[in-house]
Amino acid sequence: MERMSQLNFMDIYKLLPKTNCKECDLPTCMAFALALVKGEKQPKDCPPLLKPKYKQSLDKLNELFEGVGVGGKDLHIDIDTEKCDGCGVCVIICPVNARYCPNSLSGKLPDFPPNEYQLFQIKNGKSELLNLEYCRRLEAEGRERECRVCEVYCPRDAIEIKYYTAK
Ligand code: SF4
Ligand code: SF4
Ligand code: SF4
Repeated sequence: MERMSQLNFMDIYKLLPKTNCKECDLPTCMAFALALVKGEKQPKDCPPLLKPKYKQSLDKLNELFEGVGVGGKDLHIDIDTEKCDGCGVCVIICPVNARYCPNSLSGKLPDFPPNEYQLFQIKNGKSELLNLEYCRRLEAEGRERECRVCEVYCPRDAIEIKYYTAK
């Protein structure tokens, strides 16, 4: 699958009808784009997108946010330490960090003992992945959710979400 981070947030927004019709129960298409990235909505939750004239956009969005079954596949989140500059965006933006680890909102957490749910921390100027088992992609009884916030928002394009087929 094409890497999501090759497509920035505005590209995702541009694939939406941009009418702010609210049929998705959100106030704007921008809010819907954010909900897509956070895994709170799926492309089919925008009713206008199901119309024939948006078929190309829907197909593209489905491809980007397709649910890959966890069964038989191992989730990996790779951090390219050559690219990572320790900016702390992934620490702040990961919804699991934000929900369970209020201390992570400072971004860095250099010497702080990590919370048991915490996914990222910055150590020695680089992001470190801690507890992948709490990633929202693995929540809900083994069904992955489509959260890709860390990958999409890393300003250095250093994070890549991958699946490997389990042996
Ligand atoms: S339903 Fe679709 S077009 Fe309407 S506001 Fe939501 S995202 Fe935008
Ligand atoms: S957002 Fe990207 S560059 Fe910034 S700390 Fe995280 S992995 Fe590194
Ligand atoms: S994909 Fe997982 S690690 Fe990345 S932001 Fe979402 S919950 Fe956090």
